[in-house]
Amino acid sequence: MPLANGLPYLAIPGPSVMPERVLRAMHRSSPNIYDPEQGELAAALAKDLRELAGTPDHVAIYIGNGHAAWEAANANMFSRGDKALLVSCGHFGQSWAGHARAMGIEVEVLDCGRSAAADPERLEEVLRADKSHHIKAVLTTHVDTASGVKNDIPALRAAIDAAGHPALFAVDCIASMGCDEYRMKEWGVDVTVAASQKGLMTPPGMAFVWFSDKAAALKSDLSTPYWDWQMRAKPKDFWHYWHGTPPTHHMAGLAEALQMILRDEGLSKVWARHDALAQAVWTAFDAWGQGNADIRLNVADPAARARSVTAGRIGAKDATRLRKWVEANAGLTLGIGLGMQSEADPNADGALRVGHMGHVNAHQTLGALAVMDMGLKALDIPHGAGAIDAVTRHLARLVGPAGL
Ligand SMILES: *Cc1c(COP(=O)(O)O)cnc(C)c1O
Repeated sequence: MPLANGLPYLAIPGPSVMPERVLRAMHRSSPNIYDPEQGELAAALAKDLRELAGTPDHVAIYIGNGHAAWEAANANMFSRGDKALLVSCGHFGQSWAGHARAMGIEVEVLDCGRSAAADPERLEEVLRADKSHHIKAVLTTHVDTASGVKNDIPALRAAIDAAGHPALFAVDCIASMGCDEYRMKEWGVDVTVAASQKGLMTPPGMAFVWFSDKAAALKSDLSTPYWDWQMRAKPKDFWHYWHGTPPTHHMAGLAEALQMILRDEGLSKVWARHDALAQAVWTAFDAWGQGNADIRLNVADPAARARSVTAGRIGAKDATRLRKWVEANAGLTLGIGLGMQSEADPNADGALRVGHMGHVNAHQTLGALAVMDMGLKALDIPHGAGAIDAVTRHLARLVGPAGL
């Protein structure tokens, strides 16, 4: 007997759950795009987005998804034949490298595997070896959504400085913006990319590229009128923000989402909530793993785990069986294992991902974990007992009688 009817829960790492407030803000007829209000709204979004990323410098907003943000950043940072160093911790880092290569940029990949944060010493070594300073920018992921690995961005910045290398530092925050602590200016990042549909709780379709004064001074022959970040960051009027019709409804939705994040809840509380919910997921996997060595988190070091998404292994074939079971019988959709094949586990079926980004709270994550626990039992997949008890004890301790 399925128990799936009722409120479905999409717990994949983006697109994420959209708040009713965001949906309601978008439910309106078309505004007149020539109304000064539209320009004022774009300026207000740019201001909030700079606060969100932690930089007083520049932001360009595009109509596009995360892949568009990558290409926008690439086009403005590089000229044909320039070299990038991509520090990869999983599938998404590798994809950014692929896009750069296809645009005519030479890319060296520093492959840091799929289960640990990038090693700053290895980065320093590669940069020291680049004596002619051929590498124009170091690109990496804050969170690689496929592996669930979070990089230590200040440590990587320190490695670039220790090598005395002038390369720009560019970070993909598509899966971490509004979830994981991030301070662009303080951490010395030159270029940051993100998109609307993950931690920012807005439909897919808006891409953001923040850039420093150092990055703004670049000249690039890959840039075209649409992707050029200069005009978008210093618009003379609303037209120059968008190079055409503004994404009117996305703008209204994003304004509401940023209001929720920055002013109603507050960014540090948003980060703390994601941290607590991530710990809930880790606690469940640890307990399940007590009874089955195949069940384990992909990233052993808690400091290197994302707060927005968790990748875990359930065992060959069982991750897919569990995902299908919870969707059909409990209305919960989990993320597939992505790029998680390894020599030890050539079958990505062994992995799945739990999204806990954006508009998510204790009853959603606890519900997802309890439903997974139920699925393990129904499918007779061996697992340690008491996971849900361990999770509620952990969260009760974290939250305490007075709240986080
Ligand atoms: C989702 C994601 C992307 C791709 O974003 P799209 O909107 O699907 O194009 C790139 N990088 C990371 C880290 C992501 O999480």
